[in-house]
Amino acid sequence: MAKKQKKSAKTPSAPLPLSDLLRLPHGPVDLSTLDPRATPGFPGKDKSDAPAATEVIGPELSELQERLYAAGRAAEAGAPSVLLVLQGMDTSGKGGVIRHAIGLVDPQGVKIKAFKAPTADERAHPFLWRITRELPPPGMIGIFDRSQYEDVLVVRVNELVAKSVWSARYRTINNWEAKLAAKGTVIIKCFLHISAEEQKARLLARLDDPSKYWKYNPGDVDERAKWPAYTEAYEAALEKGNTEVAPWYVVPSDRKWYRNWAVAQLLLEHLRALALGWPPADFDVAVERKRVAAS
Ligand code: AMP
Ligand code: MG
Repeated sequence: MAKKQKKSAKTPSAPLPLSDLLRLPHGPVDLSTLDPRATPGFPGKDKSDAPAATEVIGPELSELQERLYAAGRAAEAGAPSVLLVLQGMDTSGKGGVIRHAIGLVDPQGVKIKAFKAPTADERAHPFLWRITRELPPPGMIGIFDRSQYEDVLVVRVNELVAKSVWSARYRTINNWEAKLAAKGTVIIKCFLHISAEEQKARLLARLDDPSKYWKYNPGDVDERAKWPAYTEAYEAALEKGNTEVAPWYVVPSDRKWYRNWAVAQLLLEHLRALALGWPPADFDVAVERKRVAAS
């Protein structure tokens, strides 16, 4: 234990808020100018420092999540919630982030939803209907593995609805997110940015390993063939959805260890900014102490 603490104390924390470093600047987005192998703000040398850097985050992240949960229990309606949106091409590591970064906090305080192609029932409703139903209640951290943005990504690329329909959705999403933020949800949108070469390597790795076959979807190769169209769709979604109340963060994701650390760090910084204390007792502590002692 003492050894562990010493190691943590030596690991420097991020020099700048990572929220500043990874925040997508306003204006047109050109993903070819953003390096998927970069490691901005990483407080160590390389991969070998990643476990220690992530370990440092764990205890604080865990305590802040508990404060959020406590706030939700104490004042259900008024408490904030957090929504972490994970978007990225196939194999970009949305599941890996959930395992490694979100795994640092108490699962009871986390609500995870992976959005698949909508069912017939879901398609009979406006596109935000199924998304709205999965929002985190006050005090909870919601994680979206894919999200409302699929309705301007896969839907746009594969022309699943008319252009007039998907093109109106950017504004609809912005308005919906603005309302959500106004009601107390902290929205953190992460684009896990990988290169086409890295995706190829990851797909091949899935084929090389029988324990990864379950992750391999032959359809992913068809989507991969549309890489330029997806890039264009992502650039539009990032640019149009990059609002003050719900900004986009571009997380370089060719290096899994950086990606996992970075998302944990982003979550930590947003929870810190909430500056939550512990809710006060809604009972008389002295009286209760006497009652318990006498019992
Ligand atoms: P995975 O995340 O690998 O389990 O795959 C989920 C699949 O569902 C992906 O191919 C997504 O593109 C697809 N998907 C998610 N949301 C939508 C949507 N709104 N419309 C169509 N396809 C979707
Ligand atoms: Mg998949």
